[in-house]
Amino acid sequence: MAGAAFVHFPSLNRLKSALAFVVSNDLVKKVHEREHMETYLHVFQPQLERLSVAHETSVWNPVSGPLCRFCPVKSCEFNGSR
Ligand code: SF4
Repeated sequence: MAGAAFVHFPSLNRLKSALAFVVSNDLVKKVHEREHMETYLHVFQPQLERLSVAHETSVWNPVSGPLCRFCPVKSCEFNGSR
């Protein structure tokens, strides 16, 4: 989000953010600086490269995740895991 905000608002140099965890009554604050924008924008680079290769080759290997237990694809080896 910080990277997107810096791209969309060129005059923005510092961004303050916070995550509120209601159940644990916790607030995690962070300050983002424009000088680190490239780092923010490349956080998802490994995942984007994996998706790009899958799109180019039409090979979509399953990757287990927290949503597998809700997935309707019963034939997948990870279905119901986690
Ligand atoms: S169970 Fe569903 S969500 Fe999980 S890897 Fe397989 S297809 Fe993907």
